[in-house]
Amino acid sequence: MNCYYHPEKSAVGLCKYCQRGLCSECTAIVEDVLACKGRHEDEVRALEQLTARNLFQSRRVASAYNRNAIFYGLVGAVFTGFGAMQYRFLGWQAVFFIMIGLFLLYAAGANYFEGRKHK
Ligand SMILES: [Zn+2]
Ligand SMILES: [Zn+2]
Repeated sequence: MNCYYHPEKSAVGLCKYCQRGLCSECTAIVEDVLACKGRHEDEVRALEQLTARNLFQSRRVASAYNRNAIFYGLVGAVFTGFGAMQYRFLGWQAVFFIMIGLFLLYAAGANYFEGRKHK
């Protein structure tokens, strides 16, 4: 492939914004990727900052889901265990605790799988 701006020169890379071939003379390095020198440097910088921010956000979302999963799991286990232990004394009220506990365990699982999706 040859340079888009200098058809007689061979290209050393592609502009990340317009995907055109660039010779060494036309290449600008922006945020570790190539851009058309003096043409698409700002566009490529904006693109790179956008993807960097998205990665950062999805990592934060995943850790929030994991934190929720741990919290729901612990509270769910406490409720379920309490309900099971108190069943003989509380009767149907214990069933109520067990149901809340199981619901929280379900929420913990849902959060855990949702968090894995964002990795
Ligand atoms: Zn370009
Ligand atoms: Zn060129």
